[in-house]
Amino acid sequence: MGNLSHYIKCIRNGEVFFDEQFKFAFLLHEVGILHLIFAILFIVMGNRVLGVYNVCVFIGYFSLDYLVKFKKFKLTLALASAEVILHGVLTTVFVGITTGFCFYYFTMIPCVFYVVLSWNVFKKKELTSLLYTAAFMIAILATIAVSYLVEPVTEIKFGWMIAFAALNVIMSVVAMAEFLILLDWDVMHKSEKMQNLNSQLDEQAHMDPLTKLYNRRFMNQKLDDKLVELSKEGNIFGIIMGDIDDFKRVNDTYGHDFGDIVLTEVAKALKKSTRDDDYVCRWGGEEFLIIINGNKKITKDVAERMRTAVSEISIPFGNEQVHITMTFGITESVTGYGADKLVGIADENLYRGKQNGKNQVVSSDD
Ligand code: GH3
Ligand code: MG
Ligand code: MG
Repeated sequence: MGNLSHYIKCIRNGEVFFDEQFKFAFLLHEVGILHLIFAILFIVMGNRVLGVYNVCVFIGYFSLDYLVKFKKFKLTLALASAEVILHGVLTTVFVGITTGFCFYYFTMIPCVFYVVLSWNVFKKKELTSLLYTAAFMIAILATIAVSYLVEPVTEIKFGWMIAFAALNVIMSVVAMAEFLILLDWDVMHKSEKMQNLNSQLDEQAHMDPLTKLYNRRFMNQKLDDKLVELSKEGNIFGIIMGDIDDFKRVNDTYGHDFGDIVLTEVAKALKKSTRDDDYVCRWGGEEFLIIINGNKKITKDVAERMRTAVSEISIPFGNEQVHITMTFGITESVTGYGADKLVGIADENLYRGKQNGKNQVVSSDD
C-alpha cells in the first residue's frame, strides 16, 4: 500500500513517465471496454444490429494495438474519430439522439487537442487539431439533422433512454477530465525535466570540465559572498592558492594528456583534504584556489594536508611511477580587504614558496 501511494506520488510529480505508445494503447483499450459495455446493453435490450456493431468495434479497438505498436498514431486517431462519429450517427438512427451517444463528439475535441498538441508525432499541430475540431462540429450538426429527418428505427423505452443518457453523460465527462489529468501529468513531467536540465546547466556553468572542480567564475562569486558574510557576521575564512611544481616539465616529459591526468589526480587529492563547507576551484591552468571555512591555523593545517596528499600521488607511466609536488600560499580574510587583494596576498606567499624551493606551505608570517 505504501509502495502504491509512493508510485502514485511519483506519477503526480511527473517523475514517472508513460510514453505516447502506452497512453494511446491505454485510451484505446478504455474505449474498447466501453463499447463492450454498450454491446452487452444493446444485446440485453434486444437491438442486435447495435449489439453486433459494438462487439466488432470492441475487437477493433483492441486490434488498433497493432497500429500503435508501429507508431501509426495519425491513422489510429483518424480511425478512432471516424468510429466515434459513425457510432453517434448509427445510434441516432437506431435509438434516437436522446440516448446521448453524440456527447462523445465533444469529448473527442479535448482528446484530439491533447494527443495532437502534446505528442511529438504530429507535425502541423494547430492545423490538424483545428481540422479535427471542425470535423466534430460538422458531425454534431449532421447528427442533429439526421435526428430531425429520420425517425429512430427502434422504439426505445424511457428507462433505457435515461440509462444510456446517464451512462454517456458520465463517461464523456469522465473522459474529458481524464485528458486534462493526462495533460497535467505531461506538463508536470516536462517541467521536472526542465528543472533537471536547468540544474545540470547551472552545474556546468560553475564547473571546470576537466577536474570537475568549481571554475574561476564561480569562485569569484563565492569570494564576494564570503566577504559579505565576513562584514555582516564576522565569519573569517582562509584562502589557499596552490600551484603544481614544475608542471611544464611534466607536460614536456610525459605529454599533455598525461598532464591532464595529473591535474585530475591533484584535484581529487585537494578535494579529499577539504570539508563540505570549503570550496576548491581550478583557478587557471595548474593553479588551484581554495576557500577554507576557518581561521589562519585551520587554513594552514588544510594546506599542509593538501601538500602531503599531493606528494603521495603516484601515477604510472610505462614502468615508471610519476610523483609530483605542489606549493601553497595562504592567507586569512581581513575585514576591509577586497577579493583581489586577498588572492594577491595568497599569490605572493605562493611565489615566495616557489623561490624558497617549492613543495611547501607559506603564510604571511613565514
Ligand atoms: P612552477 O613550479 O614554477 O609552477 O613551474 P611550472 O612549470 O609549473 O610553471 P609554468 O607556469 O611555467 O607552467 C605551467 C604549465 O601548465 C604550462 C602549461 O602548458 C601547463 N598547463 C596549463 N593548463 C594545462 C592543462 O589544462 N593541461 C595540461 N596538460 N597542462 C596545462
Ligand atoms: Mg602556474
Ligand atoms: Mg606550476
